[in-house]
Amino acid sequence: MSEQRDILSLTLPELQSELTAMGEPKFRAAQIYRWLHRRKAQSFAEMLDIPSKLRTELDAQFCIKSLFVARKLASSLDDTVKYLYRLSDGQHVETVLMHYHNGWRLCISTQVGCKMGCAFCASTIAGYVRDLTPSEMLLQIDETERNAGVTISGLVLMGIGEPMDNFANVMQFLTLLSDPEGRGMSLRHVTVSTCGIVPRIRELADRKTGLTLAVSLHNPTDAGRSKVMPVNRRYPLSELMEACRYYFEKTGRRVTYEYAVMEGENDGEPDARALAKLLKGQGAHVNLIPVNSVRETSYHATRKAAQRFMQRLEALGVHATVRRTLGSDIEAACGQLRHEADRAISEEKR
Ligand code: SAH
Repeated sequence: MSEQRDILSLTLPELQSELTAMGEPKFRAAQIYRWLHRRKAQSFAEMLDIPSKLRTELDAQFCIKSLFVARKLASSLDDTVKYLYRLSDGQHVETVLMHYHNGWRLCISTQVGCKMGCAFCASTIAGYVRDLTPSEMLLQIDETERNAGVTISGLVLMGIGEPMDNFANVMQFLTLLSDPEGRGMSLRHVTVSTCGIVPRIRELADRKTGLTLAVSLHNPTDAGRSKVMPVNRRYPLSELMEACRYYFEKTGRRVTYEYAVMEGENDGEPDARALAKLLKGQGAHVNLIPVNSVRETSYHATRKAAQRFMQRLEALGVHATVRRTLGSDIEAACGQLRHEADRAISEEKR
């Protein structure tokens, strides 16, 4: 039997051409698309206004993907909930639900594992497994809304994986997400975070999607950044900054910078000065976050250290805030839960 195709990853025009090829009338695709994206149907059998012969045919050709809650951890300190989702092939990804400015924001994963190799990050420890499909990104939103009984108003692509390393699927996901015939979320409410894959940043700028780009900087010098982020050896800071300026020019949207404070590594006065110099004239905002200690690494920072670094930056005229650390009791940092789960599973097997 040939493999069933993932119908939830198709845009409406793509579904239309599939159904036209099957000899169906034009309105049929919109009907099915609404069942999938508005009514969140989980089977073709539910689609009662679709002729049963067609439902059987669709069932043979396509699958409707789903996710399962493998673990759910609710913070006792705030409203943060972390989900470990199991995908249809048994792989796991993490999704974090956070309460923010009177709304719910979701942090989703874009890959199973990651190739980027950042030294402080748990997502990359066990390497890269595969890309997520557009449907698996959408389903993280649908499943979380269903499970938590909330409506998600903002989205950040900051979970496991490098979104710009799964570019085509992420773009397809954004098309589906913002489609007025589907969820219709404005991309102004979406932030995509990248470790700095320069050609993709430029491509994203050219698409003028309206989304916010966040760049994970973490160190203001090439020597220091290359030490913790291998991507910097390929795309050094001068090229990255040029791409960020290009993004702003093309889209009118300011790039934000993520900076995980690591005590004794990137939080000294020379670091603050180098960072101020690097960002000069951009009116940039820096989000500081005390690095989350991952078991395998030695990086650490207190909130106080992050605040100290913030004051250093403010004194140099750089706008910075220390990000609220939500769900700190449930290890809400990216990749930690999946990594812990995989390790527990492999320890059980031994
Ligand atoms: N690959 C993308 C998005 C996923 S990571 C990126 O690099 O931006 C989301 C953010 O969490 C990034 O800024 C990443 O550098 C940061 N991060 C990863 N591990 C961390 C840790 N242990 N402590 C604090 N931030 C971390």
